[in-house]
Amino acid sequence: MTDTFEGEAGEDKVICSWQNASEETKKLFPDAVAFHASHTDGHVADCDSWKCLNCGNTVDSDGFLPCDEDGREIEPTPELWTKPLYVCGGCGNVYSKNSGERYFTSEDVAAGYAEKEGEKTTGEKGAQS
Ligand SMILES: [Zn+2]
Ligand SMILES: [Zn+2]
Repeated sequence: MTDTFEGEAGEDKVICSWQNASEETKKLFPDAVAFHASHTDGHVADCDSWKCLNCGNTVDSDGFLPCDEDGREIEPTPELWTKPLYVCGGCGNVYSKNSGERYFTSEDVAAGYAEKEGEKTTGEKGAQS
């Protein structure tokens, strides 16, 4: 947890970063304010300006990357990206695109990796890397 980030600590979800933009910024970008006013907390599917409440990461810093259910970064193609999930580039939490709610924590992802590695050693054919 960083000491510079003033968020609702412990709330593991993403929000529209425009919901707490400064008045100064809002004055400069009225169109953006109008657009982002339509998808307040919990309706972030259409938002292109996410902010992770866990670590304070935004699309302008470390960003959010399309990922699979194991938290692995993937190409957002219809074949590969079957669930709309994003992994936070800052803390590694995995979020649902539609709700902004946390899907996995970075710890869950790490545990998932461990399980997968275990499966591979039992002779199961792993997916190509
Ligand atoms: Zn927004
Ligand atoms: Zn994060």
